[in-house]
Amino acid sequence: MEHRAAYAQVVVEIADRKVDRPFHYYIPPELKEAVQPGVRVLVPFGHRQLEGYVIGLADQADVSEVKPILAVVEGELSIQPELLRLARWMAVYYMCPLVTVLQAFFPRGKRTKQKELWCYLEPSATVEQLGLAKKRAPKQGAIIDILQQFGSLPVGQVLKLADADRRSLMSLVDKGVVVIREAEAAAPAQEEVPEKPPRLTAAQARVMEEIRPKLVPPQYEVFLLHGVTGSGKTEIYLQSLAQAVEAGYQGIVLFPEISLTTHLVERFYRRFGRQVAVLHSGLSVGERLATLDRISSGQVPVVVGTRSAVFAPAPKLGLIILDEEHETSYRQEAVPKYHAREVAIARAFIHKIPVILGSATPSLESYHRARQGKYKLLVMEERVEQKHLPQVLVTDMRSELKEGNASVFGKLLQEKLQERLESKEQAILFLNRRGYANLFHCRDCGQVIKCARCDVSLTYYAKQHCLKCHYCGYVRPVPAACPVCGSSRVRPLGAGTEKVEQELRRLFPEAKVVRLDSDTVGRKGDYYRLWEMFQRREADVMIGTQMVAKGLDFPGVTLVGVILADQMLNFPDFRARERTFQLLTQVAGRAGRGSRPGEVVIQTYVPEDPTIQAVVRHNYREFFAQEVHLRQLLNYPPFSHILRILVLGPDEEMCETGSKEIADQINYYRGAVDVTLFGPAPAPVTKINNVYRWQLLLKGLDLKKMRHLVGASLREVATKGRLPRGLRINLDVDPLGML
Ligand code: ADP
Ligand code: ZN
Ligand code: ZN
Repeated sequence: MEHRAAYAQVVVEIADRKVDRPFHYYIPPELKEAVQPGVRVLVPFGHRQLEGYVIGLADQADVSEVKPILAVVEGELSIQPELLRLARWMAVYYMCPLVTVLQAFFPRGKRTKQKELWCYLEPSATVEQLGLAKKRAPKQGAIIDILQQFGSLPVGQVLKLADADRRSLMSLVDKGVVVIREAEAAAPAQEEVPEKPPRLTAAQARVMEEIRPKLVPPQYEVFLLHGVTGSGKTEIYLQSLAQAVEAGYQGIVLFPEISLTTHLVERFYRRFGRQVAVLHSGLSVGERLATLDRISSGQVPVVVGTRSAVFAPAPKLGLIILDEEHETSYRQEAVPKYHAREVAIARAFIHKIPVILGSATPSLESYHRARQGKYKLLVMEERVEQKHLPQVLVTDMRSELKEGNASVFGKLLQEKLQERLESKEQAILFLNRRGYANLFHCRDCGQVIKCARCDVSLTYYAKQHCLKCHYCGYVRPVPAACPVCGSSRVRPLGAGTEKVEQELRRLFPEAKVVRLDSDTVGRKGDYYRLWEMFQRREADVMIGTQMVAKGLDFPGVTLVGVILADQMLNFPDFRARERTFQLLTQVAGRAGRGSRPGEVVIQTYVPEDPTIQAVVRHNYREFFAQEVHLRQLLNYPPFSHILRILVLGPDEEMCETGSKEIADQINYYRGAVDVTLFGPAPAPVTKINNVYRWQLLLKGLDLKKMRHLVGASLREVATKGRLPRGLRINLDVDPLGML
């Protein structure tokens, strides 16, 4: 007879560090069959009944009085063994309760019996019918536009893109313009002709030669595909996927923000048609669960999605692809605080499959590992079809000021804008205004006032009229003169997108302008509407924050202006230079994607800055060499790990007391562990929603030891009751931002 374990290890659904461990439960005979690792069960816990996950089986229990499992929760997907392993790895690595990871894998919610519904335009719908619907109702028009572009799409996806409700869609169905079918239903004959892949360029072919041997049968390997914007990386993703899919495997493709890269998703739909499932935050729980079911049954081979799609329960997973691997939106800022890139690599390791990380501006971490030989570096240096990278010009804003031009537009940018308006070409203006982060700088030499201890810029607090360091808590009065050149013209630095728009309208009253930032793009549909306006060339200039930097492909754009690079460059974070290089390169990549060559104008008070110079020369390797040197000198990642302890509480004093207790304990325990402790200090954003925030930062080489040190210290202060009641502790391993 087959051996059956007597006990199950169950993680219950309470996100509390104190119960963050598996509990043993007795498996009643009638449930022996059903209780397996990965299933959801109902168990007694204290005086309550809670749901939880079985994470393992055992012959022995760790306590004498063991309670029974009450039931197996019906209709839930069970977690695959590989995902269970991944969950355990994440809980350890990111120091978060295992149950929060398991919850992230499987969203809770009611499964509707409904299958995923797709819609497409009725092939026999006439031009008149379409035109009439468009004219009468703009929302219906938006739905038609999108279906014309994409062919067929899931209902949820169409509504999201069109920012329309079901009523508008149903009214189109009533008119016989749109058809809705279950995803599985037979495709209408004419529209399911998948696009033929283009012939690979020489560079692409070389890259495919490297990837191919690892695809079928899949083998573990991390590829870092470093290709300039427009070099044809997406084509590499498509063809690698096609090979995996053809051999019967499933693939996951991750994008930073799906709404910002709709044209990318479109390319996957075009190539793979209905074999694509899309996962993003805009789906309802029902839609998400239905999609997950289709993935876990193996029906859909291609999963495209944002960061949490890295957990997609694909039983035949053969490949993971991460586009724009340097993007910060791969980091989840809520618990479990994970980075989808690191999770993807861990998952690939567990499944023994390849992963492709792609970027024009790889993260320092990834490139460093590639150079160490841990990842395989693949390079594509040129744009497809001999299109040239844009020429990058720099305006010195110090001389503009000296010559009496106090406008946010330097002379060169004004001239270039004028030219574009006359020749009916389009321009994008970029400004990364992050409101609270005002810097203080010298208007004569460009010097930004920095913290003596941390080599990050100090932040100007207008109300208190002082400068503060976001890392170590150092505070100083505003200097009367520049520490470098002695000039008394030291001022806060900053102007927002709104001001840029105002000034643009004053200088060029005839220009049609759209502004894309979080103030103008309240809802998802707004983005698509403004994007479309610009695409159709109904506007001449687009002004925006980061949103305009990413993945947009407008052939009409021949000019990109960066209003002021300094704010980004001096953002109080050791990654500021890296972010600046990435963002500027990305924005610059928006110019000259059509038939005409592009130009970029970067305005700055520090034109000689090495980061900006590397952007001018389109030279990632030059940037990497400088930056990796600095990181090594200052012992920042990738040469160390950072672990942040965030202390949250209802009042400031409580946070201070609590964080000092923790700091004392860490100092008491640290012994020979080679770590540096910064703080305790108020977090850069000291209060959110009336919750006060203090922080401690640990920097060190050995993350394992750091985790043990922090874990032991927190347990000690908690069990000895040394933390004020009502305090919450939040851990952040390898944080990206530290606000
Ligand atoms: P990236 O992802 O590196 O920015 P893309 O894959 O989007 O680059 O390619 C840039 C442009 O070149 C796209 O319009 C794409 O359709 C086109 N393209 C890519 N590869 C080829 C190819 N082998 N032949 C012709 N056109 C290609
Ligand atoms: Zn100065
Ligand atoms: Zn400091």
